[in-house]
Amino acid sequence: MKDTNINKNNTYSYCFLMCKGEIIFKGHEDYPEFLLVSDVEKLGFNKVDMMYIGTVDSNEYYAANLSNDDKIEGYFSKHMSEIYGEVEENIFLLVLRATHLLNWLDKNKYCSCCGKKVQIEPKQTYIECLNCGHITYPRITPAIIVAVLNGDKILLARSPHFPPNLYSLIAGHVDAGEFIETCVKREVKEEVGIEIKNIKYFGSHPWPFPNKLMLGFIAEYSSGELKIDNNEIEAADWFSLDDLPHIPEYKMSYARMMINHILEARKDPNKNLTK
Ligand SMILES: [Zn+2]
Repeated sequence: MKDTNINKNNTYSYCFLMCKGEIIFKGHEDYPEFLLVSDVEKLGFNKVDMMYIGTVDSNEYYAANLSNDDKIEGYFSKHMSEIYGEVEENIFLLVLRATHLLNWLDKNKYCSCCGKKVQIEPKQTYIECLNCGHITYPRITPAIIVAVLNGDKILLARSPHFPPNLYSLIAGHVDAGEFIETCVKREVKEEVGIEIKNIKYFGSHPWPFPNKLMLGFIAEYSSGELKIDNNEIEAADWFSLDDLPHIPEYKMSYARMMINHILEARKDPNKNLTK
């Protein structure tokens, strides 16, 4: 039987088998190993139904969704947040990409023009309907996140959906036809009623839950009093950078990465606030 794990150059084919943000592993829980394509085939998956995610160090990576949450004998699962920092960054980015693409595939099983079932082409990240030719690309939704500073204070806010006492940065989706810079000002004005200035780009991070691309900014307070929009925010305040409230602990939270960077830049005069 052909070994589907070994490519021409003696490299490996892996498959991220995923279920609700969890990834299935083999091996020991302290030393988890990604499944090989052949492992996933033995579980009843056909390779043509696995989504090609990318190639790193000549190893190919695929992904497939496990449609139920039954435990699979001999394997165990970990949430992707548990492996953040435990695997190389380029492999973790592939896990985020796999999450995004599998979410997209799950919502696009049928052509949005003619209604026929579609099939993903091998190694393509678009779907072409074989019936009507309509092409669907993965949906990517840009969202801004902004750290507003006022001297040694930072603006943090609470959404009603957050766990109790948790505060984070202001964030929101870019509207149709809107400049990203306008969106940063609008979200802050809408949610907490103040004007900001000196908006600087910080960086970006994929956040595939289900399909966001986070665009980070750092800005300064300009004018106005805090006045919260009770629809999206239930509390907001200026907090001393030396005495922050409960903020996201999740290591892969982009808000946490931004706040950590601001705290480090305060201590190190050679470090730029905007990386
Ligand atoms: Zn079609």
